[in-house]
Amino acid sequence: TACLAIDVGGTKIAAALVTLNDKDAQVEQRMQIHTPQNPSAEALDIALAEILQKFEGQFDKVSVASTGIIQNGILTALNPKNLGNLAFFPLEESVKKHTDKPITLLNDAQAAGCAEFLRQDDIENFAFITVSTGVGGGIILNRKLFTGTNGVAGHIGHSLADPNGEVCGCGRVGCVEAVAAGRAIARDAAKWDNPCEPPEVFERFRAGDLQAVTLVEKSAKAIAHLIADLKINLDIQRIALGGSVGLAEGYLARVEHFLAEMPAIYRPEIVRAYYAQDAGLIGAAWWAENQE
Ligand code: ADP
Repeated sequence: TACLAIDVGGTKIAAALVTLNDKDAQVEQRMQIHTPQNPSAEALDIALAEILQKFEGQFDKVSVASTGIIQNGILTALNPKNLGNLAFFPLEESVKKHTDKPITLLNDAQAAGCAEFLRQDDIENFAFITVSTGVGGGIILNRKLFTGTNGVAGHIGHSLADPNGEVCGCGRVGCVEAVAAGRAIARDAAKWDNPCEPPEVFERFRAGDLQAVTLVEKSAKAIAHLIADLKINLDIQRIALGGSVGLAEGYLARVEHFLAEMPAIYRPEIVRAYYAQDAGLIGAAWWAENQE
């Protein structure tokens, strides 16, 4: 039986029918739309309604992985800028209006962490980091997803990168997210004489353009330090990197380069997210069947 998995990110909403078998997953009829970039709850509600309508009759449960803090059916954005300035959204209520099937909700990076951990038989403590519109994390401790009592655990993008850095959308100054995320890269690249979007920043970075190299390296260095912090705080053994920035060609190598400058105790193994862009969808489906 298929689960309709929906992954709500700051830039895109993906959906697919996901069937799990042991450590692998079948992802069928995958679709993707742009996340509404306005603060109206109605826009997101309509987007979800359209997805549920499109898959009607083909699923027996729904699982939504979403950016933000997910608790008691409610989505609260830690950084509202990541969701078109939408700070609060009654996610479960919105989905419930359009289906009578069981609904499961989870943070998107926590979901992706669950999916990626399916491939990690040999370790106890693991983390997934997404470098996407924002920077998110899913932390697995003693082989279990750690959500915390308020669902906040894993919001590692709001760890400190630079006390003199930019103000983050969450209100704190210098968060990793404000330095390293796709939105931060877009913000800086928009100020260039020859401005461009993150995918083009990466093209230029790979071509050796100095300005682009500097910007990508600023992001990669902040993520390398975040990884070192996770290792020393939680003894994380392996970290998977995902999100469109995290998966961009050449990025992981820069993260490893900066990590290599640190003492060995700070360096877990780093791998590319196995399920890549589907990690959130697969993790959402897994969570619907396996949550405690
Ligand atoms: P979401 O945040 O919705 O989960 P993504 O993981 O796709 O979505 O991350 C979106 C961010 O990644 C945006 O800031 C976008 O500009 C950037 N991005 C998208 N494609 C690429 C690419 N090929 N290379 C580098 N950055 C990219």
